[in-house]
Amino acid sequence: MRIITLLLALSTFIPVANAQVSPDYYLPKDISYNTSIPTPKQFFGHEIGEWHLTHDKLYYYMLELARVSERAVWEEYGRSYEGRPLGHLIISSPENLKNLEQLRIQHLQLSDPENSSKSDIKNMPVFIKLGYGVHGNESSAQNSSVLVAYYLTAGAGQKTDELLRNAVILIDPALNPDGMQRHSTWVNFTKSLNNNPDPNSWEFSETWPGGRTNHYWFDLNRDYIMLQHPESIGRVAAFYRWRPNINTDHHEQGANATFFYQPGIQSRNNPLTPPDNQELTAEIGKYHEKYLNAIGSLYFTEEAYDDFYVGKGSAYPDIHGSVGILYEQAGVKGHLKETPGMLLSFPFAIRNQLTVSLSTLEAGVAMKEKLLESHRKFYKDAFTLADKHPVKAYVFTEPDDNNRLSEFVRVLAGHQIRIHKLAKDINRNGVLYKAENSFIVSLRQNEYRFIRSLFDPIKEFTDSTFYDVSTWVLPMSFNIQYAPINSLKEMDGLTGATHEEFPSLEGLVATVADPYAYLFEWNEYLAPKALYELQNAGIIARVAAKEFSFSNSSFSHKFSFGTIMIPVADQPVSKAELGKLIEKVARDCAITVYGVSTGFTETGMDLGSGNFIVLNKPSIVMITGDGASSTDVGEIWHMFDTRFRIPVTMVTAARFGSVDLDRYNVLIVAGSPDINQAGIENIRVWNRKGGTVIGYKGGNSWLSRNKLADIENVPAAQSDRKEGKYVNRSLDNQARQNPGSIFQVKLDLSHPLCYGYTRDLLPVFKTGTAAVKKNPDIYNNPASYSSDPLLSGYCTKDNIERIKGSAFVSVHDNRIISIYDNTNFRAIWYGTNKIFMNAVFFGQIL
Ligand SMILES: [Zn+2]
Repeated sequence: MRIITLLLALSTFIPVANAQVSPDYYLPKDISYNTSIPTPKQFFGHEIGEWHLTHDKLYYYMLELARVSERAVWEEYGRSYEGRPLGHLIISSPENLKNLEQLRIQHLQLSDPENSSKSDIKNMPVFIKLGYGVHGNESSAQNSSVLVAYYLTAGAGQKTDELLRNAVILIDPALNPDGMQRHSTWVNFTKSLNNNPDPNSWEFSETWPGGRTNHYWFDLNRDYIMLQHPESIGRVAAFYRWRPNINTDHHEQGANATFFYQPGIQSRNNPLTPPDNQELTAEIGKYHEKYLNAIGSLYFTEEAYDDFYVGKGSAYPDIHGSVGILYEQAGVKGHLKETPGMLLSFPFAIRNQLTVSLSTLEAGVAMKEKLLESHRKFYKDAFTLADKHPVKAYVFTEPDDNNRLSEFVRVLAGHQIRIHKLAKDINRNGVLYKAENSFIVSLRQNEYRFIRSLFDPIKEFTDSTFYDVSTWVLPMSFNIQYAPINSLKEMDGLTGATHEEFPSLEGLVATVADPYAYLFEWNEYLAPKALYELQNAGIIARVAAKEFSFSNSSFSHKFSFGTIMIPVADQPVSKAELGKLIEKVARDCAITVYGVSTGFTETGMDLGSGNFIVLNKPSIVMITGDGASSTDVGEIWHMFDTRFRIPVTMVTAARFGSVDLDRYNVLIVAGSPDINQAGIENIRVWNRKGGTVIGYKGGNSWLSRNKLADIENVPAAQSDRKEGKYVNRSLDNQARQNPGSIFQVKLDLSHPLCYGYTRDLLPVFKTGTAAVKKNPDIYNNPASYSSDPLLSGYCTKDNIERIKGSAFVSVHDNRIISIYDNTNFRAIWYGTNKIFMNAVFFGQIL
C-alpha cells in the first residue's frame, strides 16, 4: 500500500506519456468489444502510437491473444538471424479453427489442376494474409497489426462473426523483426516527452545503417525469389503452406507523400501475370476508396509503383494465383513530423494502415467466390499455356562446381518447382549435358509462369521504366549452363529421379598411401572456405600460376590455374594430423582433394616450381559506417560470414587515421567513406608495404579522388531528344537509365582474379550506365564487357555501345584492384562471387 501511494505521488510530477491517443481514434465504433480480450493499452501500458513497439512486445501480445481467444492461434514459421520468431497469428471463427488443417488441405486443392474441379468453392472460406513491415523502419505497418488483431479477436456481434466464418486470416505482424528492433530502439531513445515535429530533429536521422534491412542489411522485399535469408525462406514456405488468395504488403514511403494502394502502373505489370489479377486488385481498391474517404485521408493509385519484378512482396503472390497488394503510407520515422501538407503523426499513419487492412478483409469476404475461382483458373490455365508454349523444358548443368549447382536446385525447389535428374547425356548448342551433373525442369507444371520468369531472358519491353530491376534470369546469376528443349519428342527418356532423391554433397580425398603433397582446384564455390580453414590452422599453401597434370593409380587429372598445393613436409602439424585436417576440410566444403606421391608432374610445371606462389592468410578490414554503402558492405559481410566463415573486421571511417593497419593485408572500400587526410596517408603507406586495396563499385570514385588509382570514365551518352514536354521530364530521364540488367564479360582465365573459372564468358549484373575505360596496361584487365554485352534486361542502344569493351574489373599499381560493378548482388550472384574472393586471396600475388 505504501508503494502505491508513493507512485501516485510521483506521477503528479512525472508525465509518463504526453501524446495522448484515444482508443476511439482507431477502432470502428459500429461494433462492441469483448472485455475479456486485453486491449493494447492494458497489455503495453500505453496506447498504440504513443511509443514504437519493440518486436518482443509485439510478439508477446500476439501470443497473449492466441492464449486468451478461441479465435486465434499462433503458428511460427521461422526465426530471424537474431533468433526472433516469425509467424502468423491465424484468426478465424472457433469452428473454422477446429477444422483448420482440413480447411487448409481443401484450400490447397485449388492449386492442383488435376483435382481442383472437385472443390466446392461456395462452401470454402477465403484465405487472406496481412503482411506488415518487411522494411523494419516502416513502423506504422507493424504497429497497426496489433489493432487489427485486437479488432478481430475482441470484436463482438454478427458483423465480426460473419467475417470470421468466411475467412481465414493470417496476420504476419512483423516480416523483418531484426530491422524493427533496431528502428524502434532508435525512435524511442530519441523521443522527447513533448513530441518535437522539427524535421531537423535527431529523432528523424536514424543511425547508419537504419532499420529498413535485416541483420546483414539486406532488403528482404527483394529476396522472395532468391531465398537467401531465413526470414524469406520461412515466409515463402509458409506462403505455399497456405496459398492465401489476398496477400497484403504494408509499407511506408516518404513523409511528404499521402497514401498509395495498388493497382500501380498498369503498363509495367509483369506480362506473365494474367490480366484478371489487376482487375481483382482494382475491385478490392473500391473498398479502400470507400474506407479512406470515410476518414478523409488523401490517397493515390496507378502511379509510382509497379508489379514487374516478381521477387517482392506485392508481386510474388500475383505470379502464384493470389492477389498481392502494396500499401504505402507516408512514413513519420518518429512520432510527429512537420510536412508541407500536414503535421504528420504516428497514430495517423497507423490508422491508415489499419483502415486498409479492414477494407481488405471486407473486400475479401465480399469477393470470396471470385477470388477462389481466379486462383483455381490460374493453375488450370498453367497447363494449357504450357502446352501452347514453344519451350517444353529447360536442362541445366554445371560440371565444375557441385556447390553452385546444388544451391541453384535448392532455390528452385524452395518455390515448389519440380526438378528431375537428367536420365541420359545430351548435347545442346555445343554443350554436353552429362546425366551425372545435369537436371531438367519441365514447364508443364503448376508454377509454369513463375518458372518462365526465372529462365526466360527478356529484351523487349512495353514500358521503359522500372521500379526495380528489369531482369533476373536465375541460371545466369549462378553462371550455370542451360538450354531449352523445344519438343515433347525430344524430352522422351530425359527425365530421371525427382529432386527429393538427390544425394547431399560430399567431399572426397583421392590420395595415395603416403602423399608428398595435396592438391585441390579453385573452381568449386567453397574453395576459398577450404583454403581459409587450412591457413587458419597454420598450414602453408601455394597457388598454381600455371597449368599441370598428374596421372597415378588413383586418378588422372589436369590441374588448372589457381590450383592450391599443400606440401606435406615443413608444416606445423604431423603428416597424420594433416591428413585428418584435409579430410575434414574436404567434407566441410564438399570439394575433391587429390594426394600425390611425387613432385614430378606428368605435364607442365613441377610442384617445386616458382610458379607455385606461397599465400598469406587474408586478414581483412572493411570500411563501414557513414559514407559506406550499407547494401554493398552488408552483402560482403554476409558472404564472408555465412558462406566462407571468414572474419572481416568492419571499422568506421573516422577511426582510419589512428587504426594500426599492419594487422591486416586486405582493405575493402565500398562507397564513399569520409576518411580524413591522416587516414588516407595511413592507407597509402600500408598499401606500399604490401597491402591489397579492393575498390568496390562506388569505392572506386573514392580511390580515384584520393589518387590511389587512375580511373578514366567513358563519357556519358547525350540524349538525342530535341524537344520534350515538361510533364514527361522525369520519365524521359528514367528511360535512359539501366535499372539493373544482365551483361556478358570476357575473362582472362590465366589472370589470378579469374582463377577457378572454367569458361571465359561470364554473365554479370550491372545497374546504372557508368562505364570505365580499360587499364592502358593490357595485362591489367582480367574482366571486360564483351563486344555484344547485353544478355537480358533493359538498356538503351547508346549505353550498350558505351558499355561494350569497358572494364568490369581492372588492376592498378601496388595491388590496387577495382571491381566496378556488383559481384555480390542480393546474395544470388553466385557466379560472380568468385571474382571478389579472388581479389581477397590473390591480390597479394599481383
Ligand atoms: Zn517499404
